[in-house]
Amino acid sequence: MVWYENGLWFSCVKCGACCRDRGGEKYVFLLEGEDEKLASMLRISVDDMRAKYLVPVGGYACLRNKGEDCVFLSGSECIVYPARPLQCSSWPFWPENMRRKRWIAEVEGKCPGAVKGRLFSREEIEGILERQRGKDMAGF
Ligand code: SF4
Ligand code: SF4
Repeated sequence: MVWYENGLWFSCVKCGACCRDRGGEKYVFLLEGEDEKLASMLRISVDDMRAKYLVPVGGYACLRNKGEDCVFLSGSECIVYPARPLQCSSWPFWPENMRRKRWIAEVEGKCPGAVKGRLFSREEIEGILERQRGKDMAGF
């Protein structure tokens, strides 16, 4: 039985905290095809989107920062929310967060949307984890 057998509560309150102060080792990497999704939402070509909003990190495509914040953060809002990368939309259900101690420290300790909102069942959480497996990262 996993520690989150009875599910976990979460609802993003859109405070923008996880999109701010993205210096150091905080990166949002794109998966293959996510550049096209973003370009389509922004109504620009894929080449223009990549030139304007992406940077290479270790050979992979990563969202550019504006100062210390994600380039797509405006106030506390993500301006590409429906087309945001899976790395953003799958938070906080990342494989590395699915250890109880880490969940308490990194999710409950830092995200005001944790322990509130709606209950994600174990099956839903495992579905989100599964969607992140075996995906190819977009190269740069
Ligand atoms: S820190 Fe949590 S509540 Fe705030 S924007 Fe990020 S996911 Fe949403
Ligand atoms: S793409 Fe949107 S959700 Fe993801 S880090 Fe940037 S502002 Fe936040």
